[in-house]
Amino acid sequence: MTEQTSLPPSFSIGADGWCHPEEVVRQSSPNCDARPDGCVADLLVIHNISLPPGQFGGHYIADLFGNRLDYDAHPYFEQLRPLRVSSHFLILRDGGVVQFVSANERAWHAGVSCFEGRERCNDFSIGIELEGTDFEQFPALQYRALAALTHALQLRYPLAAVAGHEHIAPGRKTDPGPFFDWAQYQQALAGHMQQTSGKLPLHFPAIDKKVN
Ligand SMILES: [Zn+2]
Repeated sequence: MTEQTSLPPSFSIGADGWCHPEEVVRQSSPNCDARPDGCVADLLVIHNISLPPGQFGGHYIADLFGNRLDYDAHPYFEQLRPLRVSSHFLILRDGGVVQFVSANERAWHAGVSCFEGRERCNDFSIGIELEGTDFEQFPALQYRALAALTHALQLRYPLAAVAGHEHIAPGRKTDPGPFFDWAQYQQALAGHMQQTSGKLPLHFPAIDKKVN
């Protein structure tokens, strides 16, 4: 995961919804359940998270998703005590990826949400957390990993669109925030898409309004 290499990261999603164990760190979260009948993952939701906010590294995010956070370790953590949350994936600042929930299952990342008239986005989405904040840029390594992971998910699921948490829960959520560069994400993904014939391009949110 921290090897120095010029090769882009590569992921493969198995039929069980898990990345190959050599590509990610698996830390199963109990905060998941089955998708409702007839629901398939056609939306990717991008988030940011850091615990405590603005601090990177450490194990607190995985602890939160695993319901084992030491709520006394930092004053901010007290407000997290009632939460039972997870995401499918977390991309660390160095581009390393942790997977908590099979992408076949429903992770609990979006909360009250709506995408193009469809509510309860957890039912039909895959959630990717970027270790980060609303207040600083994301490293290139994270975009590379995000693009590679997105590409792998496209090969397994009928993904049609990407949205930020801020887009599906406006007024309530602000992540991934103003420093997340949707154009850089889209460009990184385009490099992968050249290898993927027959896949429709993903619909991106803000970028569509800026370009063309
Ligand atoms: Zn979020």
